[in-house]
Amino acid sequence: MKFCPECGTENKENKEVCENCGFEFDKLGGEVSLNQILEKLEIFEKKLSSISKSIKDKNVTIKDIDLGFYDIIGLMVKWALASIPAMIIVAVIFGLIGAFFGLGGLLFGPRY
Ligand SMILES: [Zn+2]
Repeated sequence: MKFCPECGTENKENKEVCENCGFEFDKLGGEVSLNQILEKLEIFEKKLSSISKSIKDKNVTIKDIDLGFYDIIGLMVKWALASIPAMIIVAVIFGLIGAFFGLGGLLFGPRY
């Protein structure tokens, strides 16, 4: 089984084109690059904004929400990338707290 990068439909391994949207798998060369994921992410964000627009217009139709498999992967990649700076900041803060209490322990702690 393989997933169509265009629409996320599951296709049989021997299929040359997606049975849903007609995407040619040969073009892909069997791999999905980061750029393709980011392109999918842009499409996903456009979908999200159009969905939020349709919510504002009170025209919500659930069947129009069609998240492909690679859309979800793209979102997870973005979350992972976005969490890296946050983790660094947290590490620095804990390092500072550790240094502060370590210093406090040296100054005010029991002397040996
Ligand atoms: Zn497809």
